Amino acid sequence: MSYDPPMSNDDFRRAGHDMIDWIADYWESVEDRPVLSEVKPGDIRSSLPARPPESAEPWSDIIDDVDELIMPGITHWQSPNFFGYFPANASPPSVLGELLSAGLGVQGMLWSTSPACTELETHMLDWMLDLCGLPERFRSTGPGGGTIQDSSSSSTLVAILSARERVAGQWRMGELVAYASEHAHSAMLKGCKIAGLTHQQIRLIPSDADHAMDAVALREAMVDDIADDRRPFFVLATSGTTSSTAFDPVDEIADVCKDFGAWLHVDGAFAGAAAVAPELRFVNAGLERADSYTFNPHKWLLTNFDCSMFYIADKGPMISALSVMPDYLRNAATDKGSVIDYRDWQVPLGRRFRALKLWFVIRTHGAEGLTDFVRSHVEMAKGFDAAIAAHPSYEVVAPTRLSLVTFRHLGGDADNERIRDAINNSGRAYLTHTKLNDQVVLRAAIGAVRTEQRHIDALVALLDELS
Ligand code: PLP
Repeated sequence: MSYDPPMSNDDFRRAGHDMIDWIADYWESVEDRPVLSEVKPGDIRSSLPARPPESAEPWSDIIDDVDELIMPGITHWQSPNFFGYFPANASPPSVLGELLSAGLGVQGMLWSTSPACTELETHMLDWMLDLCGLPERFRSTGPGGGTIQDSSSSSTLVAILSARERVAGQWRMGELVAYASEHAHSAMLKGCKIAGLTHQQIRLIPSDADHAMDAVALREAMVDDIADDRRPFFVLATSGTTSSTAFDPVDEIADVCKDFGAWLHVDGAFAGAAAVAPELRFVNAGLERADSYTFNPHKWLLTNFDCSMFYIADKGPMISALSVMPDYLRNAATDKGSVIDYRDWQVPLGRRFRALKLWFVIRTHGAEGLTDFVRSHVEMAKGFDAAIAAHPSYEVVAPTRLSLVTFRHLGGDADNERIRDAINNSGRAYLTHTKLNDQVVLRAAIGAVRTEQRHIDALVALLDELS
């Protein structure tokens, strides 16, 4: 008995063309949809059949159900009125790259399982180095290089595991201490947890008035820890924090890391993309002294999730931490040591052909197109910042360095929560909050592909209505 596919190649052609039309129509109309999904917990599941179908269903029924059952449960990250969290850009070339990757169905765990998957990825990491003016120490021709991880969280975890490996045999696991600012992303805590560190082995260093790590406090914490027979082994510095795009002083932190022999990992998850614009390369400050670095084209660089750049200056400790070689994976190319096997650069074995979408995005935009894209948001954020600063009922809370504006209503926390909920329930825009100096602060993260000045003007008008 052989497999009789319910969707023939010709059916696939037709359905595929229709699906591209569906996505293009969606993008054209996404602005008119309420940004935040209005469903209640459990609504989507209760609309689905309890059991899987016994016999095949027509494709048209499935697509009808996407419209009727799934779309009500979608929060529209691609809406020009989406200002929550950080953006999650999707663009036509990246979606086509994703589709091609799925169609090729490649599993790129080893160079030999699809040489193009590995080599295009290595090449894209080097291209990104040129596009963003990143340090040469991360180029693939040196002792380090780069790879595409699924997320910055994974990049940070790999950095922690590499740092731990570098001191293994020298210090005991229980003695190790990791450091980050109190404003570092929670990915740091999660990475440490997975790496087997307890809460007592993690220090959250206080920040200065601009919410950037206090490098003097970092040094003091390390001195205290050493006096206590503990071993500083890892520091995460953030270039562009989640709450307010604050920039930790990477250069000063690098001095401290050098003095204490600690690994320096820089998290530029959101802000790193800004470096495509030469005048915004302050976001790279100090990177030439980092052991590893991550930023996400899947946030602000037109490449749909997932696509996180991870660079490392010396891949030795990482390979030693993550490489295992069972007999069934042995092959001539790996044995010769002349190729990269990216399975040794990540936690899972299997990996997708993510470089394709990045290649498509970079080639269809060119450096100029990417730069214009980032600049347009920075420009709009400046205007939004000025409008908030001029409003009698609101204030800007932290400097607007890129395209995130943090602000609050002068009335206090309850007013800010009321305004956030009213905006999000109106369907006309969506934004999220954070806490700075123990106060509720609203965040407008400007960076969706379709956001234009008129959407910013509408957000200002909405805030004025609610003030
Ligand atoms: N680091 C920073 C500074 C972030 O802002 C974020 C997410 O917003 C992350 C890390 C986590 O990114 P990812 O979802 O790629 O793990």
